[in-house]
Amino acid sequence: MALDRRIEPWSALLDAGREDGRLVREAAEGPGRAKLVEAPRELHPDVLRALGRLQIDGLYSHQAEAVHSAWSGPTIITTGTASGKSMCFNLPTLDVLCRDARARALYLYPTKALAQDQARALAAFALTKRVRPAIYDGDTPRETRAQIRRNANVVLTNPDMLHVGILPNHAAWADLFANLAVVVIDEAHVYRGVFGSHVANVLRRLRRIAAAYGTEPRFLLTSATIANPVELAERLTGLEDVRMIEEDGSPAPHRRISIWNPPLTDEAIGARRSALSEAADLLAQLVRDGARAICFMKSRKGVEVLSRLVKQDLQDTHPDLAERIAPYRAGYTPQQRRELEGRLMRGELRAVITTDALELGIDIGELDAAVVVTFPGTVASLRQMWGRAGRRGRGLAMYVAGEDALDQFFCRHPEDFLERPVEAAILDHESQLIFRQHLLCAAHEGALGSEDAEFFGPRWEAHAEVLLSAGELRRRPAQARRRGVDPIRPDSVRGGSTSSTYVPRRPGSYPAGEVSLRSASPESFAIVDVSSGELLGATEAARAHSTVHEGAVYLHLGRSYEVRELDLDRRRALVAPFDGDWYTQPKRQTDTEIVRLLDRRETLGVTLSFGEVSVTDTVLAFQRRRLSDHAQVDLIGLELPPTSFSTQALWFELEGGELGEWLPLEALLGALHATEHAQIAVLPLIAMCDRWDIGGLSTNFHPQTGAPTIFLYDGHPGGIGIARTAFSRFEELCEDARRLIAECPCASGCPSCVQSPKCGNLNEPLSKAGAVLVLERMLHAAGEQAVAASR
Ligand SMILES: [Zn+2]
Ligand SMILES: [Zn+2]
Repeated sequence: MALDRRIEPWSALLDAGREDGRLVREAAEGPGRAKLVEAPRELHPDVLRALGRLQIDGLYSHQAEAVHSAWSGPTIITTGTASGKSMCFNLPTLDVLCRDARARALYLYPTKALAQDQARALAAFALTKRVRPAIYDGDTPRETRAQIRRNANVVLTNPDMLHVGILPNHAAWADLFANLAVVVIDEAHVYRGVFGSHVANVLRRLRRIAAAYGTEPRFLLTSATIANPVELAERLTGLEDVRMIEEDGSPAPHRRISIWNPPLTDEAIGARRSALSEAADLLAQLVRDGARAICFMKSRKGVEVLSRLVKQDLQDTHPDLAERIAPYRAGYTPQQRRELEGRLMRGELRAVITTDALELGIDIGELDAAVVVTFPGTVASLRQMWGRAGRRGRGLAMYVAGEDALDQFFCRHPEDFLERPVEAAILDHESQLIFRQHLLCAAHEGALGSEDAEFFGPRWEAHAEVLLSAGELRRRPAQARRRGVDPIRPDSVRGGSTSSTYVPRRPGSYPAGEVSLRSASPESFAIVDVSSGELLGATEAARAHSTVHEGAVYLHLGRSYEVRELDLDRRRALVAPFDGDWYTQPKRQTDTEIVRLLDRRETLGVTLSFGEVSVTDTVLAFQRRRLSDHAQVDLIGLELPPTSFSTQALWFELEGGELGEWLPLEALLGALHATEHAQIAVLPLIAMCDRWDIGGLSTNFHPQTGAPTIFLYDGHPGGIGIARTAFSRFEELCEDARRLIAECPCASGCPSCVQSPKCGNLNEPLSKAGAVLVLERMLHAAGEQAVAASR
């Protein structure tokens, strides 16, 4: 069917953007035809009949491939948004359940809403006699839990529940573990960083317990498009030879991609019209011109404000349309969510404005336009959001840039945005603190012995020894086990090990209850809302002083709170809902001490090192700044003791004498500091993380290196692999940082290049010109090396 370009509801809007330069780049994708194939004949007849009842005549090619792959080995599926990925793991799972009445499956979802959605999808197959799905999470009533354990053969849960509720009580789940055939990990890309490092350990514990009950389940994973899906699957599960299904057989709509930059209002200081106001205009016009749109924003507050602006805009001219705009975000009750999803699916809503609550794949049907306001953190999630656009074969995928460094970087390099390979998801199951916490949990689930290297890797015993000296574990001679009196592993088939085993020193304790999968360190501060008495969450002890000091404005799930009191003894912060028009930024003194050098290489004319460091932080004061224009309101002193944590870092030393010749001291400090900021700003392009996950320190003289040195370190105790990635891809990091600064049109530094919203020195001193010099000299040295090498 030929479509007249003129009738697309965004033609006028794009024309206007082309005219005045706000539309900085256009591209197009698709359309692509569906590749349909017959469902594999080998599937159980009941499953084939269920497909028939659902009027599914053929499968997309990737779905059929996934079924075959799942039969032969662990598999990860990475096809696009709305390509029917659930079918890829549901079919092989249903097949197993139809063949073996005792077989069980475990589905892991990162959120409760997704588990609900999948439970409905499974119910739609109407295989009620063979397939009995049930959700088992924090909301499951006590009285139905025992029945689910006995009866359900697809248990849908989340990693947190698996970690704290199921694995430690495996005896109660003996039947599930003894018959566990399939483990599904949907949305696996969510498990990265700290969360991923934890989940990787939880899955190793799961495989270990399953093995103790004599099963080796098949792992099936799905992921959004990321740079390293196979690596992610292998790191998460600890398995080898994971297969990948990436060729998408679903039909692709014709999608117009537009990168939009709000106009400059002050060139010298780099100020632009806010992305929020710009997006409000765009959305109102799209709705007026007949499009159904979804709009994504990071903060809940932003979602509320933007919906209000769009409604106001429409109120005067189209009051009927104003009624059909709604915000959707985390924090609504399940009924409110259901109702909004229903209105959206029935086409009653014209625009929904949301946090990423919808990003994860809940089926809401397709829309005409997907507008992403400010960079969502990764190109991978941007692509996933854009994937929502494409109803009736065509769609508009738009990105409206904010003032942040990465946003403006992409506006100058849209090709990077569109063609650059998406980021790699990073995790490290051996991140020291995280690993030891789970080793202790595992010891409570069953004595640790030499055969556990299969699950935890060859270095587990060294960590067990540390737990031994800390008084958490004790050694037990192997004899006791060989007599077969290990009550924790009723079905242990691995007796006969001659080495000793490790068992908990305090068997009655419950270590899993003290480990949160969302934080790197077991030491945490509770955050309590004094207005309701509600426990909002916890923050790592290492971050508490800088994020929840007295007077800090603290953001939790997009909502603002002001800290009334930080109680260091009882490890808690008392906060109250906050509606003021300022935010806070701590002023800190940071020191790094190199503890252990792990790797070193010469590159770009500097000595680049990677190793363990100890970071000591003292929060000295905090600044209050106005939300509207970032102007400083005041600076308030604090009296807090220093805190320290160990982590991984890279550092590089510059030639002190030479630098000093062409840069006076103040300029040298500013140049190093600005270089550090720029490198932190672009590091998320290489490693899937947030700039808040990375710390930095620059100094004109470090006592251990004796030279001007820049440190970039993992912000989480123990490190989660970010610094290691930056070490191995340092050259790219420097080139990206140089482009970020050198190409920014501002005169002497702005939030889009060298200023950082999290700087402990409140962005003093910074030298944009100095940083360009430093980075250009380094990259020039690289050029000379290359020339020398080619001779
Ligand atoms: Zn700038
Ligand atoms: Zn700084």
